[in-house]
Amino acid sequence: GSSMVAAWLGVAEVIRAHRDELVRLDREIGDGDHGENLRRGFDVVAERLAAMDAATPGAVLKSVATTLISTVGGAAGPLFGTALLRAAKALGDRATLDGTAVAEALAASSEGVIARGRAEIGDKTMVDALVPAAKAAESAAQRGDSASGVLAEAARAATRGAHDTVELVARKGRASYLGPRSAGHLDPGARSTELILTSLAASAGS
Ligand code: ADP
Ligand code: MG
Ligand code: MG
Repeated sequence: GSSMVAAWLGVAEVIRAHRDELVRLDREIGDGDHGENLRRGFDVVAERLAAMDAATPGAVLKSVATTLISTVGGAAGPLFGTALLRAAKALGDRATLDGTAVAEALAASSEGVIARGRAEIGDKTMVDALVPAAKAAESAAQRGDSASGVLAEAARAATRGAHDTVELVARKGRASYLGPRSAGHLDPGARSTELILTSLAASAGS
């Protein structure tokens, strides 16, 4: 429980540090609010988590999810919220997480985002970071990797997936209004997904 709290406090820190970068990315192909929306939401997440260190990992994820849903707004708030609600449900009331649990949580997250936003792989969204992350996590779990090993593989795959959005033409969300002009830019939601997973992996590995 408390290590899950620490991990999400770390995410909040990383989002704060990357707020301006995410604003800049969203200015290029969206409306420029992604970094500020997430910064505002994760500041509230950090406040609420400070009072939660006895909770199970699932309960922590549920708290993060409901906070993001009520504070972030835009497209990303409900999508990240759904991802984390699904992850929380997948973890149930487990007290500790192994690699398989982490992989199941990531699979549930990516399925939740797809069910909610209807984006497919290649549409230039957070799905392009999250789906490869979930797949890499599943492979790592099948090899018997620990929770931190599975998260590290997921973060690496998310990083590659996010980078690969640069060349794509957006077919979902605000960036899709630009058509072919959306190519040549990193998708902000894929980048924030990469940042979140990389931060979680760093916390799990430390
Ligand atoms: P808004 O476009 O409402 O301002 P944000 O700026 O917070 O929302 O988030 C934009 C990000 O949301 C995009 O970069 C993309 O990754 C993601 N996104 C948008 N629409 C979808 C969708 N239908 N499915 C998955 N992700 C989406
Ligand atoms: Mg935006
Ligand atoms: Mg907006």
